Amino acid sequence: MNLQTKHVCVIGAGIVGLSTAWRLIQDGWQVSVIEENAAPGLITSYANGAQLSYSYVAPLAEPSALTNLPKWLLQKDGPLRIHPSLSPHFLRWSLSFASHCTKALAHQTTRDLLGLGYLSRRVLREWLADAPTNSAAALALEYRTNGKLVVFRDLAALASARTQADYQRSLDVSCEQYALSPSECVQKEPALAAMQSKLVGGMYTPSEDVVDSHGLCKYLERLIVSHGGKLYYDTCITGAVLEGRRCVAIKLKTQSALSQEAEKAETSSEAKGANTSEFKADFFVIAAGLSSRELLQKFATHAPLLGLKGFSITLNCEHGIAPSVSITDSHHKIVFAKLGQRLRVAGMVDLGRENRDIDDTRIAALIQQARDNFPEAGDYSKVQTWAGLRPATPSGRPIIDQTACENVYANIGHGTLGLTLAAGSADLLAAKLAGRKSSLPLEPFTFKAA
Ligand SMILES: Cc1cc2nc3c(=O)[nH]c(=O)nc-3n(C[C@H](O)[C@H](O)[C@H](O)COP(=O)(O)OP(=O)(O)OC[C@H]3O[C@@H](n4cnc5c(N)ncnc54)[C@H](O)[C@@H]3O)c2cc1C
Repeated sequence: MNLQTKHVCVIGAGIVGLSTAWRLIQDGWQVSVIEENAAPGLITSYANGAQLSYSYVAPLAEPSALTNLPKWLLQKDGPLRIHPSLSPHFLRWSLSFASHCTKALAHQTTRDLLGLGYLSRRVLREWLADAPTNSAAALALEYRTNGKLVVFRDLAALASARTQADYQRSLDVSCEQYALSPSECVQKEPALAAMQSKLVGGMYTPSEDVVDSHGLCKYLERLIVSHGGKLYYDTCITGAVLEGRRCVAIKLKTQSALSQEAEKAETSSEAKGANTSEFKADFFVIAAGLSSRELLQKFATHAPLLGLKGFSITLNCEHGIAPSVSITDSHHKIVFAKLGQRLRVAGMVDLGRENRDIDDTRIAALIQQARDNFPEAGDYSKVQTWAGLRPATPSGRPIIDQTACENVYANIGHGTLGLTLAAGSADLLAAKLAGRKSSLPLEPFTFKAA
């Protein structure tokens, strides 16, 4: 196939859509990206935990998830909260999630995601190797290999992390992880001194990276534009023109047309349907995060996605004592990443709350936990707050697959690991579209396996 003459349209300019677009451009496709917001990376890829956690990919769906269920249902302030809902999405997803909570399936998912994580590390490092270190976009990335240290406050959790590390070491991947005593944790990261008395140990992985997710989106946007790709902002898909099992065009509307329509609709009944244009391409890739669930219905495809709500705070730590190594506090399930002179703290999973409202009690808890761990990091009274919905599949594996329309593909469902897995997922999608052998087997990343 002569890719120079073939046109792919990617829907969504989050980290997954932009990575996909850039990888396709590298292969020689003509690429357009459609994004409903005014700029890239403003939704889930905006202020996430910033961790490239290639070696920490164990899924939420594992046997202890079922035994912890009563606690999660009752606890009001735990790291994971469930708000039961009767929505069909929630019920269907929850049943499928429960069916994945076996040791064998959790091990299988870990193996698949480790493979994808390490592929992502290789691909992303290639993409960033040419970054001119003094350019504004490269500086905004705050990309570095700073290692990750997960710290534990109870012996059972530490023992379970050691078992997981032993399992990962037994696989055919090079996964360097070391158990550390509390004093070794503080040697590795002196900012942990205030926490030392609470710790029973830690697990250190030297090879993990950190990057500002929004900075990476803007960096990829520049690469795409400077290599001839086109980005259409403030533009939303409203429909699809299907002929049999093919999509010949998508229907687009600008946001201003949509808001004009909404205004007019209040006064007249004629507005709907105006200002729509058709956009043709040979192939379409849906990478619209959680919105892919509704979008894929236009292509007769069911996407098993649920939004797992989480929160972050960002504070200035220029004059404070903040960790330079990425830290995960296993007890509170929160992560700390230093991005230049800012400290990003992220965590919490709220199931059954599919909105991006800032929840003051969750943010207050996050600030309290961060302050307890790193009291001198910065001024906790001046934090930027954020909430996002992780687009998660029940198994924890993303979907990189063809849809019911033969020229429409999906790259969705990266859940808690979208930043980590985006580059590898883009590489697999590009191989699938070009019909060449992919770096990893694709079966684990199908709709069927999700
Ligand atoms: C609190 C929190 C912490 C996290 N921490 C980490 C971490 O440390 N490491 C990690 O790897 N991952 C982390 N994640 C997960 C990661 O942020 C997500 O998996 C990732 O951002 C998903 O990217 P995406 O491109 O699929 O979706 P998005 O970033 O949501 O992008 C989808 C894009 O599609 C656009 N769109 C939607 N519908 C349409 C439409 N109809 N037409 C046009 N455009 C449309 C949206 O506007 C959006 O820009 C975290 C998530 C949260 C919430």
